[in-house]
Amino acid sequence: MKPNLFSLVLSGCCAAALPGCSPEPQRTAGPNVIYLFPDQMRNHAMAFWGEEGFRDRVNFRPDPVHTPVLDSFARQALVLSSAQSNCPLSSPHRGMLLTGMYPHESGIPLNCNSSRPISSLREDAVTISDVFSRAGYDCAYIGKLHADFPTPNDPQRPGHYVEDRLPAWDAYTPAERRHGFNYWYSYGTFDVHKQPHYWDTKGQRHEIREWSPRHEADKAIAYLRNEHGERSGDKPFFLMIGMNPPHSPYRSLDDCMEQDFNLYKDLPLDSLLIRPNADSHMEKAESARYYFSSVTGVDREFGRILAALHQLGLDDNTIVVFSSDHGETMCSQGTDDPKNSPYAESMNVPFLIRWPGRIAPRVDDLLLSSPDIMPTLLGLSGLGDRIPAEIQGRDFSPLFLNDTTRLIARPDAALYIKNIDGETDSSGIVRNYLPVARGLKTERYTLALYLDPSTRQLDHSLLFDDREDPYQRHNIPLTENPALTEKLLSRLAAELKTVGDPWYRNRILPDLIPYE
Ligand code: CA
Repeated sequence: MKPNLFSLVLSGCCAAALPGCSPEPQRTAGPNVIYLFPDQMRNHAMAFWGEEGFRDRVNFRPDPVHTPVLDSFARQALVLSSAQSNCPLSSPHRGMLLTGMYPHESGIPLNCNSSRPISSLREDAVTISDVFSRAGYDCAYIGKLHADFPTPNDPQRPGHYVEDRLPAWDAYTPAERRHGFNYWYSYGTFDVHKQPHYWDTKGQRHEIREWSPRHEADKAIAYLRNEHGERSGDKPFFLMIGMNPPHSPYRSLDDCMEQDFNLYKDLPLDSLLIRPNADSHMEKAESARYYFSSVTGVDREFGRILAALHQLGLDDNTIVVFSSDHGETMCSQGTDDPKNSPYAESMNVPFLIRWPGRIAPRVDDLLLSSPDIMPTLLGLSGLGDRIPAEIQGRDFSPLFLNDTTRLIARPDAALYIKNIDGETDSSGIVRNYLPVARGLKTERYTLALYLDPSTRQLDHSLLFDDREDPYQRHNIPLTENPALTEKLLSRLAAELKTVGDPWYRNRILPDLIPYE
């Protein structure tokens, strides 16, 4: 008899009240906030990690990449060495970032496409932009969103998806789904890096023939300068910029700028893939040149935005964050999958935050989780009292500000989450999802447990001692150190219970994980 999957697979539906629309007093004295997050950029791809003041704070060698802007920015910023993307995949991360909730609550357990109606940003969720907007901010979104279920709502071709392949991945986000963003220049997901397109606030489509990060930097600069009345000018602003590179494809000059590629084109591959767990003979290895070229290009475009901010005299009153949705394995760990794994290359993302005079520049090993970003930014902006009660992330603003009057516990673990499609109907529509793996990143260890989808039993595990084995080359069997295993499984059980994870609700692997 086949095992019943129903107790495991979970519907993406979430019942909750409609977002509150009651008028709240506006506050217009807060700082501006810029949140820039290129897609698929790993923490290791920033050169400053090899510099004095940084290299003794991590136990890896940075990639041999040129990031002069980030190297300088890092010395003005709080730099987190261990920020984690808990579900290291585009859409689930974006759901956590926007809502402060884990993927089983944000509405986005899976990457969004038209075959997955169960994975789409909850319309009823109060997002970070909803809170900023209601507090009197102008809110702008530029670039890749990838948080909406595509529907046949192409403004230029009513009744059609915005692309013809099925399932459709790219999406148009209509005004009623923009969660407080009153300036819009965005798309769902689309990977032709030098022919991007965007829909603007009015739904007009723009076809561009330029490397997307460069174009998006231009749009961000125009927004900062308020060149065409992009914002009201007398309100603070919250500006999110979702750049797609260094996301794949990364295989030709169609994907990056030649000036950046010239820095890497003649270097031997084993001088680029320097992590001891990397294989420079993999078919993907040549991509390293293009990947690092894309990182360098993103670094330059970030610098242009910072320069514009400085010219406008807005530095001091603007919080600037540089992060990413997840990392990139890039020939490490013998996998072709750049993301979605618990390896450091996939989960450990950049997180640099600058607020001159308020946040002291330093390195901190805080285990920041994706849902913590929303409440922390709201807390920093003086909107801590408006953080929605239902969210799961924690407000670390006191820690960021060195505010010792508000003590806050430092987390000792970050969850690892992987979901896959569950059952599909006869037309290929995904009806539910399977929470196939869960795990934990602690200060010292990385643990992941994988289910066999058909038996619901443990398929395999990964356990690394990240202190002794920073490149995660020795998978410790769970039986090797029972005391350690027991301790980590207890901690995992507690974390799964705290967030109400599907593994806790369905008591997955009850003989292994001590839920009670
Ligand atoms: Ca992504």
